[in-house]
Amino acid sequence: MSNPTALVAGNWKMNGLTESLAELEALETLVKEGKSADCDVLICPPFTLIGAASVKADAVAIGAQDCHGAVSGAHTGDISAQMLKDAGATYVIVGHSERRADHFENSKIVKVKAEAALAVGLTAIVCVGETEAERDAGKAVSRVVGQVEASLPEGATSAKVVVAYEPVWAIGTGRTPTVQDVAEMHTAIREALIKRLGEDGKAVKILYGGSVKPSNATELMGAANVNGALVGGASLKASDFNGIIDAYR
Ligand code: PEP
Repeated sequence: MSNPTALVAGNWKMNGLTESLAELEALETLVKEGKSADCDVLICPPFTLIGAASVKADAVAIGAQDCHGAVSGAHTGDISAQMLKDAGATYVIVGHSERRADHFENSKIVKVKAEAALAVGLTAIVCVGETEAERDAGKAVSRVVGQVEASLPEGATSAKVVVAYEPVWAIGTGRTPTVQDVAEMHTAIREALIKRLGEDGKAVKILYGGSVKPSNATELMGAANVNGALVGGASLKASDFNGIIDAYR
């Protein structure tokens, strides 16, 4: 089976007002006019911009940063997967470490959210990653593989699910694991996916996330079993994000 098509995904987190859509427009231009890249491109703006972003986007897919696990109901302030789809999203991130930490979301909750996404036809980007203490204790691989096993939705296939490995200590810190560490972790995740999904596990995209920027993207994206990036800070400016997409040109 050939390598999966790569995905370069941007997570704007709690950043972005209507005026920020100018960056999305700039990115559209860079993606369309630049030498075509051998990857799909995705931006996940805050909920408030998904509708407007999906009207403007064409070469760039639009996704969300989270969804509730229920279809509808008395969940004040929450957003269902179907609402995201209705607004124009095609992907949703679930299990980001900021959600796991700030909202006490464990892998059981993440799995339910991913299943809600699949049920309406959204692709779920399931995030996993170890803390610095877990890495220092030599538990990084077992922790992350455990998260993959517990967070993957029933009905997962390579077409419906993407896994994003994001070491918590590398997010927004400017620090990254070595390429060898990234390759070791992605290979362990690949093995877990094959164990769970058989041959189709080879086709699941596994993204690396954590302080990816134009200057380190080519090296990180070149590691074994890395099929793209999940990018926070460097996705806010079209020129920076395009510099990461360059790793696939
Ligand atoms: C993220 O939060 O998904 C992320 C990878 O952030 P950053 O690129 O800013 O480290």
